[in-house]
Amino acid sequence: MADVNITFLGTGAGNCVYRNHTAIVLDCPDGTKLLLDGSSGNSLLRQGAAVGIKPEEYDQVLLTHNHADHMGGLPFLQGQRTLVNPDGPPLRVYSTDESLDALRSLCEATRMRAISIDKEGARDHEGRPVFKWLATPAGHAVELGPSTHASSFPVDHIEGSVGWRVECNGVSVVFSGDTRFSDSLVTASKGATILIHEALSTGENGQATRNRLHSTSADAGRAAAMAGVRELVMTHIDSGFHADPQPLIDDARKYFDGPISVAHDLYQVSVGKS
Ligand SMILES: [Zn+2]
Ligand SMILES: [Zn+2]
Repeated sequence: MADVNITFLGTGAGNCVYRNHTAIVLDCPDGTKLLLDGSSGNSLLRQGAAVGIKPEEYDQVLLTHNHADHMGGLPFLQGQRTLVNPDGPPLRVYSTDESLDALRSLCEATRMRAISIDKEGARDHEGRPVFKWLATPAGHAVELGPSTHASSFPVDHIEGSVGWRVECNGVSVVFSGDTRFSDSLVTASKGATILIHEALSTGENGQATRNRLHSTSADAGRAAAMAGVRELVMTHIDSGFHADPQPLIDDARKYFDGPISVAHDLYQVSVGKS
C-alpha cells in the first residue's frame, strides 16, 4: 500500500462555531505518522478517538504558526501521552524559532505535565523528556521516517509562519497553514500530489479576508493552478460555509480544473503516486 492517508481532525477557522480547530494527521506508507498543527483544547484527543487515532501513536508535529487555533491543543496532547505512556518518547515539534518560543510560553503558562522547559525541550516532574523542540528554518529539510521527509517554506501570515511540504514514497503533500496568497507557497508546491490550502471566504470578500491575513477560495484555486498540483483540498473553513461549502469550490474552480474538495471534521482522503 503506497498511499498517504490524510485525516482532518479539525477544519474550522479560528472563529468558526461549528468545527474543531486545525489539525491533520498524515499516515505515510513507510509507517511514519505525523501531526500537522495541534488544534486547540482537547480536540486532538476527542477527534482522534472518534477515528481510532491515539495520541501516543505519533511522536512528530509539524507546526505552521503560533496562533491559538493551531497550537493550543499541544499541551493537552502531550499531557495525555505522558499519562498513558510515561516512559514513551518526547513529542518532537518542528517549527520556526518564533513559533517554538510561543509554544514554550504556552507550556509555561498552562503548567500541564511539561514542567521544566528550556531551549532543547521540556521534562515532566520526574525529569522525563516530554517535548523536544526542533527549530527548523524555512527551506530546511528534516528527516521524519525511513522514506519520509519534509521542508517548510515562508508564508504571508504572522511572523514566523510557514507551510510544510511532506514527501513520502513519491507522494507530496503540501499544507499552507494560514496565509494570504503566497508566491513562496506556489513555488514550494510545484508538482505536488495534493495541496491543502486554507480558504476563509470566497473571492467576493477578498479584501476583508486579506486584511485578516487569510486567503480566499479563489486564492487557493489560483495557487493550485500556478503550482500545477494534482488535487486541491480547502480547509480552515468559516461558519458561513460550514453547511454549504459549494461556493468555495465554485470559486476555486474558476482557476483550477483538477479535483477540488472542502474538508470537514473527520474527512479522510488517500493519495498515491499517479
Ligand atoms: Zn487559523
Ligand atoms: Zn493564524
